[in-house]
Amino acid sequence: VKIAVLKETRANEKRVALVPAVADKLSKLGAEVHMQTGAGDAVKLPDSAFKNVKFSADPLALVRDADVVASVQPPDPGIVEAMKPGAILISFVYAHKEVELTKRLRDRHITTFAMELVPRITRAQAMDALSSQAALSGYYAALIGATHLARILPMMTTAVGSIRPARTLVMGLGVAGLQALATARRLGAMTEGYDVRPETKEQAESLGAKFVDTGVDARGAGGYARELTQEEKDKIASVVTKHIQQADIIITTAAIPGRPSPKLISKAQVDGMKAGSVIVDLAAEGGGNCEYTQPGETIQVGQVTIVAPLNVPSMLGEHASELYAKNQFNLIELFVKDGGVKLDWTDEVVAKTALTHDGKIVNEAAQKLIA
Ligand code: NAD
Repeated sequence: VKIAVLKETRANEKRVALVPAVADKLSKLGAEVHMQTGAGDAVKLPDSAFKNVKFSADPLALVRDADVVASVQPPDPGIVEAMKPGAILISFVYAHKEVELTKRLRDRHITTFAMELVPRITRAQAMDALSSQAALSGYYAALIGATHLARILPMMTTAVGSIRPARTLVMGLGVAGLQALATARRLGAMTEGYDVRPETKEQAESLGAKFVDTGVDARGAGGYARELTQEEKDKIASVVTKHIQQADIIITTAAIPGRPSPKLISKAQVDGMKAGSVIVDLAAEGGGNCEYTQPGETIQVGQVTIVAPLNVPSMLGEHASELYAKNQFNLIELFVKDGGVKLDWTDEVVAKTALTHDGKIVNEAAQKLIA
């Protein structure tokens, strides 16, 4: 089995889909590992750090006879054209944003495993790149918040009096939100969390945070949240506004699968915030959780700073690559066996992670989207 790992080409993408320890494990599986020259350079992994890996500067030559092509971001169309029919692509895809590429993968008879489709079940946790990358983002959001504040987070007793700890409010307590709470707390802030899934109360409290209870229960399918009714939104605003206005840092992470980011902070709520406070909007990729958010920009609205970074995991490229490569390896291990590729379509993880196979789009949500 030939596995080819590409150098990422998208702007601001520093991650790489393979790290040396995982390359060794792939070799032990009996795979022949090939990589594009310089693929790990952005995360301080020079070609020389990889043992038993063959390097090639030409990505088209690299993928032409590869059985498995691995990357972080979806590959350029030219790569898909060069891949052999029946080969496997494994990367993040997000078909709703990559309609043309998805059609091309289908028409070229590529079997695509889209990392964002890995089911959120216990057995697939080790393959769950959404979670590994979100955990890093949540951690980093707290640091971004802290460094945009002209105040400190912990209580500090000094010769001229004591400084009160900063208040951090985290809105959306999924994987990223819980890490943000934990990190802000470690930095000494007073922490509060809010979500529309009631089970997050206990999770927030176990991290030393206060739960802002709005009484709204918007549990949707598969452990995710659903969209809110106007009545629910009003009910939430009546409780949460006070906490927004007391916060020094707000970190928002709310997402609903397949939908634009829900707006959790209105313009009026921002206008009522404390001077000097900061919002870190981790939902920028989906349009943002704050009405003022400009994805990818840091803006000033009155005395409030709104930071909306894109691709936060890439900013922590070394650890993000390490975790991502391990997630991918655990998935690859399901189908690379005894020196060959064997796809077991009765395996839930294989079936649910697949986006295209054998000339068809096999993921239901993507089927509805792409005719
Ligand atoms: P996500 O990125 O889809 O959403 C982030 C958070 O935003 C969620 O907690 C969601 O409830 C919240 N949210 C949505 N709308 C909101 C609103 N209007 N106001 C406030 N909050 C709102 O979530 P995620 O981090 O990917 O995790 C989603 C769920 O999946 C969690 O229950 C998590 O524990 C679960 N999960 C399970 C596994 C597993 O069992 N293998 C792995 C990862 C995650």
